[in-house]
Amino acid sequence: MAKLLYPKVDWNGLTVALDDGHGMKTAGKRTPFIKDLGRSIRENEFNRKVVAFLADILLDHGFRVLLTAPTDYDTPLKQRTDAANAYKADCLVSIHFNAMGWEFDYSSASGISVHIFNGWITSKTKHLAECVGGFLKQGTKQKYRGIVRNNFHMLREYNGPAILTENGFMDDPEEARLMLKTSFQKEVASEHAQGLCKFFNVSYHGVKGVADENKNWLELGDTGAKVLEHQKDLKVLGFYKDKLDGSFGPNMEKAVYAFQKDQGIKEDGLLGPNTEKHLDAAMSKYEAAQIEKSKEQKEAERMAENKKATGFTDVSQDHWAAEKIKTAQKLGLVNGYPDETFKPDKTMTRAEFAAGLVQAYETIQKGQSK
Ligand SMILES: [Zn+2]
Repeated sequence: MAKLLYPKVDWNGLTVALDDGHGMKTAGKRTPFIKDLGRSIRENEFNRKVVAFLADILLDHGFRVLLTAPTDYDTPLKQRTDAANAYKADCLVSIHFNAMGWEFDYSSASGISVHIFNGWITSKTKHLAECVGGFLKQGTKQKYRGIVRNNFHMLREYNGPAILTENGFMDDPEEARLMLKTSFQKEVASEHAQGLCKFFNVSYHGVKGVADENKNWLELGDTGAKVLEHQKDLKVLGFYKDKLDGSFGPNMEKAVYAFQKDQGIKEDGLLGPNTEKHLDAAMSKYEAAQIEKSKEQKEAERMAENKKATGFTDVSQDHWAAEKIKTAQKLGLVNGYPDETFKPDKTMTRAEFAAGLVQAYETIQKGQSK
């Protein structure tokens, strides 16, 4: 069943039919197995996300949006075009991700293409393809394969201008990875929206957080120096256990989730400003603890050294009275404390002084009588 969504602002009188290719349960339509992801990516995982983002943008610009296949199931193609025709949508856009074969190795194809019907079409259809294609070329660097004419059901059976976009190749290892990237999904959605706005002469005012260049978070699929920096942090803190390669892979995502859980903050697997703030704080805390630890370690080393040199942990070899204290102990004139300290700066009472003197006198006498 198709679903009609109403704009968040005044309706501009236009209705766009959005079609997310296939369904989550469609057999076949998926990437080859991706080793470090531990699974393959279904084409619909991408298509439905782009449609959701695109619908949001269009609703924000006053369009009504007809979702031709809003369920997880693979809605039959005839139902999709029937709905778009019944609702008298002003155009139809079907979102897809292309494939050549079933192995990463066999594919040499990559890039974006815009498809229109290879039979009779109006100039409007061609114009729509040009408007959307013009924006799809922008953003993430991908090959632009141009406008291609095909006898596809979605293009043939819909009464108005219809395009089907293939936004990359599932069997191209790099493009396959883009499918799960939220920033890429949003970019593709905003490019479609800009093309549609141009086609309908609606002024495009953008959508916050859509532009990839300005995104202030790191996520699965990102690479670079900043990823590496956070990888190091998460490794030091014990959350990341994989190699330091500057690539935000599934294990890095797991590490981010684990860190967020540990910190009691929102668990979304994205390294955004809040997670970064907590990570910086955790690192400062860790470094302070390291400094404290090394201070304690140095102190322990110093005490061991003193003990070896003078017999007392708190009398160093270069204490002004070190030799005297050593001799006094050897002669049995003074004793240390049970904890191996001598406490050289502790004051003596007059009674202790008298007792000490007598002990010294007796010791000397004993020595002489031998
Ligand atoms: Zn497809």
